[in-house]
Amino acid sequence: AKVEEKLFQNRYLVDAGRPHIKVRPHTTPSASLLSMVTLCPAGCYSKSESGQVEVAADGCLECGTCRIVTRKTGEVEWNYPRGGFGVLYKFG
Ligand code: SF4
Repeated sequence: AKVEEKLFQNRYLVDAGRPHIKVRPHTTPSASLLSMVTLCPAGCYSKSESGQVEVAADGCLECGTCRIVTRKTGEVEWNYPRGGFGVLYKFG
């Protein structure tokens, strides 16, 4: 099967009230954080009308891109979801 088909089969369990990715409060996002709006493969990042970058972590594929891209600026708080939550990859 194509990777898109496999991705479609992944189930996602939202750990309500415990988002594993948070954007720290800021007035102006760095270029790195801003780039996540286009870089995140799951489209979790968006820019608000007031110019801040927001994240909605449901649907996150846990690819780690946002963690790597913002590791120097520290604007994103990234934790692995608790066991049983987050993306459940289906193998085979
Ligand atoms: Fe998007 Fe990947 Fe970050 Fe999840 S880990 S929010 S999929 S960039």
